[in-house]
Amino acid sequence: MNRTHQLEQLKQELLHRRDALTLALTGDLTMLQEIRRTGGDVVDFASDSTAEVLSTQLAEAESRELANIELALLKLKKNCYGQCEECGQNIAWPRLEALPYAPNCIECQRMMEDLEDDSANEAPLPFPTLSTHHAVYRNPDLV
Ligand SMILES: [Zn+2]
Repeated sequence: MNRTHQLEQLKQELLHRRDALTLALTGDLTMLQEIRRTGGDVVDFASDSTAEVLSTQLAEAESRELANIELALLKLKKNCYGQCEECGQNIAWPRLEALPYAPNCIECQRMMEDLEDDSANEAPLPFPTLSTHHAVYRNPDLV
């Protein structure tokens, strides 16, 4: 399989995933609006905060992923797909196959994760979160 063909496949995966995420986000926002509408005043609203925080965190993770997907699609269009946003090096192909919307090479990604570990003790969000994702995303050697 040549690279052009591989890129086309990745593009299809990205488009598919973008659609799924867009739908999920629309659903999440509807849910959030529902909570806000029925929540009454701020005090009553606080009792629902756990559910809201959860769905907000999920929506944030999905929004971030969606932004990465849009970026990857843009880069495909501009023929600079696969370049790390941080250092400009080419991202290793196995990483792109595992995570087609990866904005950074593995070195930069690890560096950023280290920084995040220093600033927050929270467990990282499970990633990716959607059940619609392709089996390739789960390969533990590549992600
Ligand atoms: Zn890099």
